[in-house]
Amino acid sequence: MQKGKINVTTENIFPIIKKFLYSEQEIFLRELVSNAVDATQKLKTLSSMGQYKGEIGKSAISVNIDKEAKTLTVSDKGIGMTAEEIDNYINQIAFSSAEEFLEKYKDQANAIIGHFGLGFYSSFMVSKKVEIITKSYKDDSKAVKWECDGSPEFTIIETEKEEVGTDIILHIDDESGEYLEENKVEELLKKYCKFLPVEIGFGKEKEWKDEKYIDTDKDKIINNIQPAWTKKPADLKEEDYKTFYKELYPMTMDDPLFNIHLNVDYPFNLTGILYFPKIRNNIEVQKNKIQLYSNQVFVTDSVEDIVPEFLTLLHGVLDSPDIPLNVSRSYLQSDSNVKKISNHISKKVTDRLTEIFKDNREEFEKKWDDLKLFIEYGMLSDEKFYDRASKFMLLKSTDNKCFTIEEYEKVVKENQTDKDKNLIYLYTTNTEEQFSFIQAAKDKGYDVLLMDGHLDAHFINHLETKLTNIKFARVDADIVDKLIQKEDGFESKLSSNDETELRSVFEGQLPTTKNNYMVVFEGLSQDSNPTLITQSEFMRRMKDMSAMGGAAAGYYGQLPDTYNLVVNSNHPLISEIVNDKNTKLSDKLNNIQDEIKPFESDKDALEKLSKDKKEEEIPQEEKDKLEELNSNISKLNDKKVSLLKEYGNGNKLVKQLIDLALLSNNMLKGEALNKFVKRSVELIEK
Ligand code: ADP
Repeated sequence: MQKGKINVTTENIFPIIKKFLYSEQEIFLRELVSNAVDATQKLKTLSSMGQYKGEIGKSAISVNIDKEAKTLTVSDKGIGMTAEEIDNYINQIAFSSAEEFLEKYKDQANAIIGHFGLGFYSSFMVSKKVEIITKSYKDDSKAVKWECDGSPEFTIIETEKEEVGTDIILHIDDESGEYLEENKVEELLKKYCKFLPVEIGFGKEKEWKDEKYIDTDKDKIINNIQPAWTKKPADLKEEDYKTFYKELYPMTMDDPLFNIHLNVDYPFNLTGILYFPKIRNNIEVQKNKIQLYSNQVFVTDSVEDIVPEFLTLLHGVLDSPDIPLNVSRSYLQSDSNVKKISNHISKKVTDRLTEIFKDNREEFEKKWDDLKLFIEYGMLSDEKFYDRASKFMLLKSTDNKCFTIEEYEKVVKENQTDKDKNLIYLYTTNTEEQFSFIQAAKDKGYDVLLMDGHLDAHFINHLETKLTNIKFARVDADIVDKLIQKEDGFESKLSSNDETELRSVFEGQLPTTKNNYMVVFEGLSQDSNPTLITQSEFMRRMKDMSAMGGAAAGYYGQLPDTYNLVVNSNHPLISEIVNDKNTKLSDKLNNIQDEIKPFESDKDALEKLSKDKKEEEIPQEEKDKLEELNSNISKLNDKKVSLLKEYGNGNKLVKQLIDLALLSNNMLKGEALNKFVKRSVELIEK
């Protein structure tokens, strides 16, 4: 029997391992199984080169738990170790200034383990004692048993072992009981070992018999030793990619849209399959699903330091032994291999999209709705991607036609250029709610884009900054003649006095909700609606942005919504109201006007008098007189306004026209809607 001290510069490595590595304790299993895989593959290689003559049966690794003995064992039929090799590979953990390093990377178990080649020693995170029973493939090797209880002292003795290979036996400590639970261990094996290249057995397949599950004598194999990404693209069919997607994400219902098979071996090594998932609005849910492997060993599912942020929306696997796994994040981002890999992936993604767009535009358009969010997200967050994607990014019209940015400009140039030479792209965010505006725009021969996506508000802003002389306007931002201002429109038939009076008439009937309304007159064509409601593009965008958070949130978020009630002063119904108002109110209004007249002429006279005087030269008496006149005039004007409002209140047609405008904007609800229906019936009966 040999006794010795594990050779470390720091007094005792084990408390440090336990203390610092607790956060990622579970990786011990990955380390042990990976070692077993390596040992197995080495023996296979030796055998194929004729350097190992022994039997190389069905090479497999098995993981077993013994609840009674409180052990977890990883067994392999690999190359094994001689006593001398144990001494070289296990007993010597040579490193310097260990504590300093451990302090620095205490939250990164991967970094520490990799840095020191501590893979095997991670088993002490969960064990009070570890045994190695191993027999080397070398001729005449004696089996040996190494044992260590978590102090630097170990023992090593000769033992009996029939087969070549290694058993690592962990005596699980009291705090780590979970690693003796079948479910837990299976979960870990599935997480870290699902695609390892050597079969890993864990217990037996179960069978339903006599009302319960019983073990069969078939080993339960945890892993798929030849996952799709390790195969040649030429050997895979579309179906195989879909099947592999399901294997990666068993809980996902949707099929992916496209895939990219990566296969590079120079100047770096990278394989993998990336999938474009369907994304409609669930950005956060879809992020960070790419799994990173190193030679089929699962490393992590957070690849944000390896690919540009927007690509974390993709799904799938990357496998590269060239991504340094055992370093800090900041180092990773500056690593030249990682940069190359990242660029390669970005390029492949854009190449693939370009290829589908060019070769199969029909399919690309069909999938556009599910692809759009990904592409917009990429264009918003990655300058390089914007440039490349702007060639295949699609704008979709309400007629379901798709155009590239370049194509669309040609489509609308002729008809939608305003008098300032700006091209106006009209869009809707809701084809139902904005139906009447869309219709009005189409009647004018305009095209309307559908921009109802999750990121469209941001995306529109972004496009405006990128494209010169192009502005976006939502169809309900103004009356159709003003959305794209060309030469001047129709003359208004109303006198300015009529407009002022009519404004009061309508104001008497505006809804008294939290929204603000302003009555404005437009001389539109007779065929246009008599009234409609618009909201300025600027105000609405500010509101939209504030709803999404960000800088404008506070200020604009608090303002009430302001809408315009646009009255078409050329519409016959409006003339009807004006005539009716004149018949009913002319006398009264004229009487008031007659009362106002003398006050106004006195006011004029006074103002003439003081016209050339400085403020201090005007006598107080004159100032007082002027104030009195003003007050009289405004009182009489108020009287006029309240007469007009009262009239408006009694005029069902006015209310009906306001409600119709609200209705076509989907803004008439509840009691107001109910009243509208009743009033409509009354008006029809008349
Ligand atoms: P690493 O795997 O990073 O080299 P480890 O501490 O995990 O570090 O293992 C140290 C060495 O011990 C390995 O390089 C290998 O030579 C040997 N070893 C570990 N486990 C086995 C095993 N199951 N069979 C054969 N050799 C092994």
